[in-house]
Amino acid sequence: MTGQLVIGNWKMHGSIGKIRSVLPELARAKLGSNVAVCIPYPYVMLAKSLLKDSQVQVGAQDVSEYHVGAYTGAVSASMLADIGCELVIVGHSERRRYFGESSENAARKLRACLDAGLFPVYCVGEDADERASGRHKEIIAAELAVLRGLPIGLYAVAYEPSWAVGTGVIATSAQIAEMHAFIKETLEPRTRVLYGGSVKGSNAEEVLAVDGVDGVLVGGAALSASEFLEICMAAR
Ligand code: PGA
Repeated sequence: MTGQLVIGNWKMHGSIGKIRSVLPELARAKLGSNVAVCIPYPYVMLAKSLLKDSQVQVGAQDVSEYHVGAYTGAVSASMLADIGCELVIVGHSERRRYFGESSENAARKLRACLDAGLFPVYCVGEDADERASGRHKEIIAAELAVLRGLPIGLYAVAYEPSWAVGTGVIATSAQIAEMHAFIKETLEPRTRVLYGGSVKGSNAEEVLAVDGVDGVLVGGAALSASEFLEICMAAR
């Protein structure tokens, strides 16, 4: 995966019909391996087969922190690797908010991915109150603390302020530049940092031109082949 990454996060959307209509369009567009789609678990194998002649990678949106055993309902990293998944989103703000996930849970999931040879994308981001009270860097630093000691290059970080996720309100270029620089300073300058939160076809070029942006994590706009392709074309 070289160049700016474009990762689609389908969240809990889609159906066999929807996947069969969107993914073949991506396959036809001859995209590189810098593009990935994170699909709901039941459709991962279908996605792999629809994209088999393309370089587009297939990922999942979550994974168990446990390796194997009596964990009803859970899906392990080795299972995802077994069915051809290449990457996994961990610690997404919706996992944190609706499923009570902590940074410690997300870090264990991230390690499980590394053990299975998967590429994890670890999400961080402040909420609206945290930004309004000027605590955004403190929040991000705490979320990043769990990554200390992990090998650089084997994972990416996604900066996704939750006030920008699914709201149509994108962070400004100055806010994105500041936070990406902060994340790289806190971890390591070579860490790949993606921006996520209301990225669309119409603003992708501007976001991808911001200093320190190594790619984008795209939610709603990933569900439309034409809009997702527009974003892919803006990546350098
Ligand atoms: P959005 O979601 O693009 O719909 O704002 C981004 C994400 O949750 O990764």
